[in-house]
Amino acid sequence: MAGLDPENWEELRALGHRMLDDMLDNVKAVAAGPVWQPMPESVRQGFHDAPLPQSGAPVDQLYHQFTQQVLPYAVGNRHPRFMGWVHGGGTPQGMLAEMLAAGLNANLGGRDHAPVEVERMVIRWTASMLGFPETATGVLVTGSSMANFIGVITASRGVPAGVKMRAEGIQSRRLVGYAGQTAHGCIARAFDLAGLGTDALRRVPMDAAFRMDMDVLRSMIAEDRAAGFEPFLVVGTAGTVDTGSIDPLADLAAFARDEGLWFHVDGAFGALARLSAEYAPALAGMEQANSIALDFHKWAQTPYDAG
Ligand SMILES: *Cc1c(COP(=O)(O)O)cnc(C)c1O
Repeated sequence: MAGLDPENWEELRALGHRMLDDMLDNVKAVAAGPVWQPMPESVRQGFHDAPLPQSGAPVDQLYHQFTQQVLPYAVGNRHPRFMGWVHGGGTPQGMLAEMLAAGLNANLGGRDHAPVEVERMVIRWTASMLGFPETATGVLVTGSSMANFIGVITASRGVPAGVKMRAEGIQSRRLVGYAGQTAHGCIARAFDLAGLGTDALRRVPMDAAFRMDMDVLRSMIAEDRAAGFEPFLVVGTAGTVDTGSIDPLADLAAFARDEGLWFHVDGAFGALARLSAEYAPALAGMEQANSIALDFHKWAQTPYDAG
């Protein structure tokens, strides 16, 4: 074989059509099957024991393996009775879009091409949808874990104004940030990855409605300042993973402005409630955030990964 082209385009085309039909049938019938079924030990052992291949295998053989060993043992999020409710199910339309994107295989790191303009358009639409100003920018990433990390990094490098942390690193500065007790685990991991340390994330207790307690937040910040720490960030959650509660976002926005803190919102699934006339008022203040993380692969049901 010369180059990367298939040896036989017609065979590959026929196989591709079969895969498409099979997968559409599978998605269409998903509700009739079990939500989830355990993987037989022999199947699991097959993955564990498989040696590193020393030569290539025909695509139809790999497809057969997929239909026997992978397809029946999926996580279950496509099923209408899957109750992990922040987890998106995907759509057949999204599946086709993934095929088109893979066919183009675009690298969005820069250069002059239409796919990068599509990303910019989606970011502009997202900002507009969430009530952010036209000057807002963003980037598509794998999910809110990565988006929250970028938020923490941006906040720590930018506040207070004039620090040279990007060049000089943290050195002996004692930066601390604040999030509710029930904030997602990725916020603490973001502090770890950013080199700030997980102790630098202060966990604020929740009030009776499972929202961040503003009075306690105020006293924690005052105590930290008195002890020589440098508060730089407060993270509000718009839809916690345990109860779905929404922190007092408008109060947090005003408080952060007064205190010179960066206000970041983790709106992983809940930010999209802004599209509902009934629930949008619960998110008032979210649009004043300095940064926000949200996912399209949860309530918006796009294929993973889309943050
Ligand atoms: C899902 C979720 C995350 C993590 O998002 P990923 O897309 O899985 O990286 C963070 N915060 C909240 C509130 C979430 O629901």
